[in-house]
Formats: sequence, structure tokens, C-alpha cells
Amino acid sequence: MTRALITGITGQDGFYLSEHLLGLGYDVYGLIRGQANPKRPLLERTLPDVHIVDGDLLDQASLMNIIQKVKPDEVYNLAAISFVMLSWNQPELTGEITGLGALRVLEAIRLSASASPSRSKSASGIKFYQASSSEMFGKVRETPQNEKTPFHPRSPYGVAKAYAHYITMNYRESYNIFACSGILFNHESPRRGPEFVTRKITQGATRIKLGLQKELVMGDLEPRRDWGYAGDYVRAMHLMLQQDAPDDYVVGTGETHQIKEFAQLAFARLGLDYREYVRTDAQFLRPAEVDLLIADPSKAREKLGWKREVSFQGLVDMMVDADLAAEAKMQAAAV
Ligand code: NAP
Repeated sequence: MTRALITGITGQDGFYLSEHLLGLGYDVYGLIRGQANPKRPLLERTLPDVHIVDGDLLDQASLMNIIQKVKPDEVYNLAAISFVMLSWNQPELTGEITGLGALRVLEAIRLSASASPSRSKSASGIKFYQASSSEMFGKVRETPQNEKTPFHPRSPYGVAKAYAHYITMNYRESYNIFACSGILFNHESPRRGPEFVTRKITQGATRIKLGLQKELVMGDLEPRRDWGYAGDYVRAMHLMLQQDAPDDYVVGTGETHQIKEFAQLAFARLGLDYREYVRTDAQFLRPAEVDLLIADPSKAREKLGWKREVSFQGLVDMMVDADLAAEAKMQAAAV
């Protein structure tokens, strides 16, 4: 049975990746941080087959212990401070977790090689996936963006991800570790954190529909994003680690939509006109915005055989329907 260790198991992608790997017959371990992490009970309930291990990307020794104890075949490093706006308020912590955190996991893998000299797939026998991000392209140098497009990150998050991306490449070249980076464009789902723009819209729209909220206050509605469904993207992560040689891949839809288009479709799903309810406020503007992010996923399509299954409209509908059902359930429970 192949054994996978996932950091960031309590996040959106951690959930979908665990579900996918369990479906493939994997033995899945999930790293969870903090004493009494409030997400632990939910994780135990929704993914009872995942083995939980305690550790933190800020704590090198915990990562080394976990790698030695679990002896994973594959490690997926999804843990990060992933909310771009937060990275301006906590730039140092973002660098520590999102950037140096990847180095600490790689070091734990590298050092485990001497502890298990018999493993043969790579220096340590462990394959590594790093969750890189389209935010590394930032002030884009070309459109669409592919694996060769130079980086120009526009946030402490993007800078930290660029460090993690390069250190992954460096450990691949220096220590013969089977290390891959997936440069993933935005991907969403009903499990997206409520602080992210798509979920803020779908939650806001459903609450307005149910009379629980009067308006939705947003930042800039003009920026364009390449949005896909998280459930589709985790398949690409797994495929990267099944190839003969490690490499980096851009994963996205190749389609771009403005934030206001997302809002328009979400409100329309509920029979509402977003222009009557959405207003903008400068407090939600990013200090520096990224330009036109749009993926060229041809390499992933050709080499991994990956393609998305959920369309943009399908994604918006799925998120709105899930939020509507969740709100209605909460209302019913409160009566
Ligand atoms: P997410 O929902 O924000 O999840 C982040 C995870 O990181 C959470 O499980 C969190 O745990 C964990 N974490 C944070 N600090 C940690 C630490 N010090 N030690 C251990 N775990 C820690 O993110 P996501 O959307 O699933 O994304 C997964 C990864 O892909 C992230 O690295 C993200 O930056 C990257 N990415 C995401 C997208 C996207 O559109 N979703 C696009 C490109 C790249 P707690 O629950 O304990 O906070």
C-alpha cells in the first residue's frame, strides 16, 4: 500500500487530495499543527481513514520525527499561510511557513536518507510535491503563463512561494530527490476558506438571498483570475509524482474571468442582480495587485494527461448551492 503524508490536511486541498488518494487505495497520513486544533474534530469526522500526526512547519524536529515514523512514499507539502492579504500583515510569518516551511520538509526528507539507506527510488526514496502558486507570476511578463515564464511576485505570499519553488528545484538537482512543483492557478470549492474572494461572494450572496445580510462589501472587482475546481487540481498533484522523472507543471484552465463576473453568476444563480447588493471599499484593496493571470496548461495536458472536468459556471453553481444548503441547515437547526 502506497503511503502518503500530507501537510495542510485541514485546508481545502488537503481534504480533496486525501479523498482522492484514499480512493486510490493509499494509506494517508495528515500533519496537523497546534494543541487542540479546532479543525481536528471535523477532520476526524469527515476523513476517518486518515491517520493524524502532530507537527508544525515551523518545527524542524517534528518534521524529521514524522518522516522517520511514517516512512511515507510520497509527501505533499500543502501547508502554508495561503491568504495573500494576510501575507502583507504577517510577512515574516508568511516567509517562515510558506517559504522556509518547504525547506524544512525537504531537509527532513534529505536527512531521512541516511536513516534509511536501503530506499532506492531517489536519494531518500520519498517523492515530494510542493504547492507552488500562480501568484509567483504576479506582474506578469507574458500571457498566458507557462513553466518558463519568469516570476515577478507582488506580495509577501508570492515571494515566499517563489523561494519554496526554487528550493524544491534546488533539492531535486543537489540531492537527487524526486521533487516536483505544481504551479497551480486559483482553484476553489465549497471547502474554500470564507476569507477568499470566491467564497466570500457565494456565502454573501446566499445570506442576502435568505435575508440574513443586506449587502456585500468587496475590494476591486476588475481583476481577472483563472479559476478551476480544487477536486480537479489535486488529481494533477498525484499524477506529477507518478511520472518517470520529477518536473514542474502549470495547472490551470486557460480561461480568465473578472471577479465581477463571478459575482454576477453567483447572484444570478439565486435570481438576484449583484449590482444591487455589492459595493466596494478601499480597505479590501491589495497594496499591489497581480495582473492578468491565465494559465497555459499544455504541458500538464500533454505529459500528465490532465484536464479539468468542472467548468467555470459549474464551479460557481456548485459553491452557491453548497452555501445555500449549509445556511438553510443552520437556520433550521436554530429554530
Ligand atoms: P488552505 O485551505 O489555506 O490550507 C492551508 C493549510 O496549511 C491548513 O491546513 C493550515 O492548517 C496549514 N498550515 C498553516 N500553517 C501551518 C504550519 N505552521 N504548520 C503546519 N500546517 C500549517 O490552502 P489550500 O487552498 O488548501 O491550498 C493548499 C496549498 O496550495 C497552499 O500551500 C496554497 O498556498 C497553495 N495554493 C493554493 C491555491 C488555491 O487557489 N487554493 C493556488 C495555488 C497554490 P490550520 O488549519 O491549522 O491553519
